[in-house]
Amino acid sequence: MAELPTQAPPPRPYAVALTGGIGSGKSAVADLFAELGVTVIDADAISHALTAPGGAALAPINAAFGAEVLCANTGLNRPLLRERVFADPAARRRLEAILHPMIRERMQAALAADQGPYALLAIPLLVETGQTGLADRVLVVDAPEALRIARVGRRSGLAPAAVRRIIASQATRAERLAAADDVIDNAGDRAALRPQVAALHARYLDLAGAHR
Ligand code: ADP
Repeated sequence: MAELPTQAPPPRPYAVALTGGIGSGKSAVADLFAELGVTVIDADAISHALTAPGGAALAPINAAFGAEVLCANTGLNRPLLRERVFADPAARRRLEAILHPMIRERMQAALAADQGPYALLAIPLLVETGQTGLADRVLVVDAPEALRIARVGRRSGLAPAAVRRIIASQATRAERLAAADDVIDNAGDRAALRPQVAALHARYLDLAGAHR
């Protein structure tokens, strides 16, 4: 009897995008998934590596913005470039046009190389950058604004007004929740995160099994 054709393996593992506004608890949640053995592919870490000394984004950034936004020690003069793009939306779009495709390409390569049943793509600006289609599922970490402001203040010493400005520049809570397949409620204490992560991990293992 002729052998049944074997199904081609999926091109990449099942992918869950993790997002949330500043101070919502994305890093805390990502750490808990990592503890369970899940690979976390972090857009911020990739962006940082691309713009660190020797990073692949430095040459195109130099070409677009001039050598004054580079720095021998840190790769990129982040405060100066941040100021430039904050004041100038066209400059911001130029920077994003350089960085976003490079970040996306590296995330996809890391995902394709991952051996786990599923991987987490931590993308803080997932909704803002219209990348919700990058993963199979979107997980949003949600917490009330007042708590986020207090937690970011404790974490990095930012004044409430500064955190509010960042929150205002990001997607609204409603926009993010509209994109969510799953939501982790981080209005409680840290201990309340663990059972929510454990339940989602079980669900993602099931979904990843069906994906194969
Ligand atoms: P994000 O990565 O979304 O900006 P973090 O995970 O860094 O948020 O959380 C913001 C700050 O709040 C961190 O210092 C973190 O340790 C703290 N934090 C997160 N969740 C809780 C919680 N449930 N209770 C108290 N502090 C928390």
